[in-house]
Amino acid sequence: MAKEYDLVILGGGTGGYVAAIRAAQLGLTTAVVEKGKLGGTCLHKGCIPSKALLRSAEVFSVVKKSEEYGIMTGEVKLDFLKIQERKSKIVDQLYRGVQHLMKQGKIDIYEGIGRILGPSIFSPIPGTISVEMNDGSENEMLLPKNVIIATGSRPRTLPGLEIDGQYVLTSDEALHLEQVPQSIIIVGGGVIGIEWASMLCDFGADVTVLEYADRIIPTEDDDVSNEMKRLLKKKGIKIVTGAKVLPETLTRSETASISAEINGETTEFSAEKILVSVGRAGNVEGIGIENTDINVEKGFITTNSYYQTKESHIYAIGDCIGGLQLAHAASHEGITAVEHIKGENPASIDYSLVSKCIYSSPEAASVGYTEALAKEKGFEVKIGKFPFKAIGKALVYGESDGFVKIIADKATNDILGVHMIGPHVTDMISEAGLARVLDATPWEVAKTIHPHPTLSEAIGEAALAVDGIALHL
Ligand SMILES: Cc1cc2nc3c(=O)[nH]c(=O)nc-3n(C[C@H](O)[C@H](O)[C@H](O)COP(=O)(O)OP(=O)(O)OC[C@H]3O[C@@H](n4cnc5c(N)ncnc54)[C@H](O)[C@@H]3O)c2cc1C
Repeated sequence: MAKEYDLVILGGGTGGYVAAIRAAQLGLTTAVVEKGKLGGTCLHKGCIPSKALLRSAEVFSVVKKSEEYGIMTGEVKLDFLKIQERKSKIVDQLYRGVQHLMKQGKIDIYEGIGRILGPSIFSPIPGTISVEMNDGSENEMLLPKNVIIATGSRPRTLPGLEIDGQYVLTSDEALHLEQVPQSIIIVGGGVIGIEWASMLCDFGADVTVLEYADRIIPTEDDDVSNEMKRLLKKKGIKIVTGAKVLPETLTRSETASISAEINGETTEFSAEKILVSVGRAGNVEGIGIENTDINVEKGFITTNSYYQTKESHIYAIGDCIGGLQLAHAASHEGITAVEHIKGENPASIDYSLVSKCIYSSPEAASVGYTEALAKEKGFEVKIGKFPFKAIGKALVYGESDGFVKIIADKATNDILGVHMIGPHVTDMISEAGLARVLDATPWEVAKTIHPHPTLSEAIGEAALAVDGIALHL
């Protein structure tokens, strides 16, 4: 017998489980089908474990320079297994939290692989879900009025660059390292690559980043990307841009070696390990898309702005539709889809209002247009930039590199983009996000009296700098 639901969600990652909570709040009978663990990539392979490791790396590097703060310590040593243990404890605690939230919402969880069936004896339209249960019990049949596909993504590699888990890793394998490699080549200088580069360098590894584009974190503002490069190089990371990695040159013996073409010349790089971070592919295979009219373009499911696929009762959200591939984007897409199903008339998401964060040391964060994009879109811009070195709290904190940059429209005074690099900017970006949501002008941001001494004063000062009236520069 098929079990009937208002909504079945395929995938219990950040997108899927948050959508389920919202659906339960709105009174929809809801089930989640999850083949792995509730919480998905973000909780088990992404945001949380990587940030736990980054925090240990940060503590390690602060303790090593504790004398600067007048604190004398003995020899500072790493216990990497303990660091991994701490990471797992945090993940477990949050995992239990998600399980509790599912129970609280009376959301049914099916542990198994879900597939969408075409028209069947159960329904004349595609959308019945068959679940191959992880425990080997008989397949469950679920008959939902609506479906949300939230199957997420997996690491990509370069054709020919085979992931072996020993010499060549993705972030999935790197999260389980039992010791810090002496040296590592990171292929790809995007967000994940840069976070790992920063972390492993702080743990003491010799790190080389090979990036194909002409700059690292190429989707960020030029100034931020240049400052990130300068600061990572200052701490010893080697960064090679314009490097086309040649997978066929990979050799594995004592160490791993790979060549890259740089300015027409081939250079060989060797290290204990190679971490490949060249983007993430949508999980769109094996879920029954072929039984529907759903479109897939360049490996991602296409949807309208309410996340409906071509089958209007089947929605898709999160990493499997591409776009920003961020946890908070996935969950808000899920909420929008559920509210649309319920007929709540939700506003569609304006992606220029979604903040993006990089948790390396230094951190970087942004919301809205980069300077280049704003100009490309035809805006005449005015820019305010304020360095952390002129902020008392940054000096107190011991981290005064970086800046806040605000880009505004000369014609309307609207804030078009805010870009930050420096201490705790990932926590500070939400003020800029709110300013964008409320359509604030730099003047209004500056009128928000920022308490002293705080790092957030840099935002107030950058807002004043837009009109050339910064106070402390
Ligand atoms: C190293 C790393 C660090 C990251 N750091 C951040 C960060 O700091 N901040 C941030 O915002 N984002 C970060 N991300 C990205 C973030 O993890 C993703 O954007 C987010 O997890 C997407 O959520 P999702 O629900 O779309 O997919 P996922 O979290 O991938 O969840 C999809 C779920 O679907 C399940 N599934 C797939 N197919 C089926 C099937 N057929 N049947 C049943 N279940 C299925 C999977 O098992 C999985 O649990 C990071 C990613 C990585 C890899």
